[in-house]
Amino acid sequence: MNSIVAIVGRPNVGKSTLFNRLIQRREAIVDDVSGVTRDRHYGKSDWNGKEFSLIDTGGYVEGSDDVFEEEIRKQVILALDECDIIVFVVDVTSGITPLDETVAILLRKTKKPVYVAINKVDNAMREADAYEFYNLGLGEFYTISSINGSGTGELLDAMVSEM
Ligand code: GDP
Ligand code: MG
Repeated sequence: MNSIVAIVGRPNVGKSTLFNRLIQRREAIVDDVSGVTRDRHYGKSDWNGKEFSLIDTGGYVEGSDDVFEEEIRKQVILALDECDIIVFVVDVTSGITPLDETVAILLRKTKKPVYVAINKVDNAMREADAYEFYNLGLGEFYTISSINGSGTGELLDAMVSEM
């Protein structure tokens, strides 16, 4: 069975940009039970000869911050349920936000492997800003740029070594 990798994180960190960069083939969107998963995207990818499935979470309902937080919590719990590996995307340009903490609290409880993808590290100057994310107390850290692709190879190498 192929491993399932879920991309989670608060809005605007670059989850969909990363998803689009990593997938080779988009799967038909599965009609779903819960309504929450309506906006999830599924894709297939492979790296070093290993095939895996990818889930892009998101498409959050607009609303107050509280609704956002609840939505994100739901998305992460769903993702944890159906995936084997988590990629937690954060944004180096904003630092750790309260919503990142909300996600981190849920992820600290899982025994599944968590990779923290510190996104928007488009240039070497931003590498230094990435250290703050070690305070999330989670998994392995990779600095990436989903826009220009830097760092994504290292992230993929690490992920497929776990499959
Ligand atoms: P999502 O809400 O987490 O799915 O985030 P999106 O993928 O929609 O991206 C949110 C915004 O961040 C968009 O304007 C992207 O172009 C931008 N973005 C995503 N990845 C990067 C990156 O690596 N570097 C920079 N500078 N911007 C990025
Ligand atoms: Mg998105």
